[in-house]
Amino acid sequence: MQACSSSDAPLSKRLDGKVALITGGASGIGEATAKLFLRHGAKVVIADIQDNLGHSLCQSLNSSDKNNNDDISYVHCDVTNDKDVETAVNAAVSRHGKLDILFSNAGITGRSDCSNSITAIDSGDLKRVFEVNVFGAFYAAKHAAKVMIPRKKGSIVFTASIASVSNAGWAHPYAASKNAVVGLMKNLCVELGKHGIRVNCVSPYAVGTPMLTRAMRMEKEKAEEIYLEAANLKGVVLKEKDVAEATLFLASDESKYVSGVNLVVDGGYTTTNSSSKQAFTKFSF
Ligand code: NAD
Repeated sequence: MQACSSSDAPLSKRLDGKVALITGGASGIGEATAKLFLRHGAKVVIADIQDNLGHSLCQSLNSSDKNNNDDISYVHCDVTNDKDVETAVNAAVSRHGKLDILFSNAGITGRSDCSNSITAIDSGDLKRVFEVNVFGAFYAAKHAAKVMIPRKKGSIVFTASIASVSNAGWAHPYAASKNAVVGLMKNLCVELGKHGIRVNCVSPYAVGTPMLTRAMRMEKEKAEEIYLEAANLKGVVLKEKDVAEATLFLASDESKYVSGVNLVVDGGYTTTNSSSKQAFTKFSF
């Protein structure tokens, strides 16, 4: 008899009966998470500003014979707009009766790059990055909490970044915004714990999504090659699905006592100190 590989194993539906809202769900990590949540039995609502992409994603997933017509749906939502976010949360509740999971994932890098000095910071760029990454996270948590508190349960997961743990070469506005998201997560974990709501972050290393390839001005394969070279864990390329799997854990009841955690998905990258490694390799002991 042949051994069963993990992808052949019968799928247990880890989100059966749950309702999830995913901001930034039309692309990249959000899209991969929407697909994985759906496979695990959740009803999913995607909230994004890329309407064509969002609608066509939902159409193709709903027309698959594994899903029903309303298992995944799209709502236009600019996370910088408090009202839009309220509408998105209300859409999930009116469509499916409740909200169990918020994945607050929409994010941008901004125009600055790591070579931009603090002495020349672009205030417009700084403002925009904070509006999407930080204000967007606040609004999402605010409206999700309003519907989760009366039900005395829920799981909120924010996408932060390894930039919230160590200098990963990102520009100041992006790094500061992701640190702010982790700060918000910790505060909310305390406020919402008494209502049975868990709050965590997932913090990925580099993934070759449109956000990253745009920022690096290169093709996905090239970006992945560069980040594989820089990685601590060799022989594995971090993919959208890997971040989605970590998010699934935080969203599901398997993590029912996990709250206040910034789960890094970085193959140990933030544990290393690459500058001392570089210095040591210059000398042979
Ligand atoms: P992506 O560009 O593929 O996806 C981001 C999504 O957010 C897009 O669908 C975009 O339309 C949406 N979005 C942007 N602004 C929005 C707004 N104002 N309102 C609603 N939606 C908006 O990129 P991604 O890499 O999948 O990014 C997802 C999250 O992961 C971001 O928060 C990002 O900071 C974070 N992240 C990415 C990486 C990486 O290397 N790709 C690493 C660490 C963290």
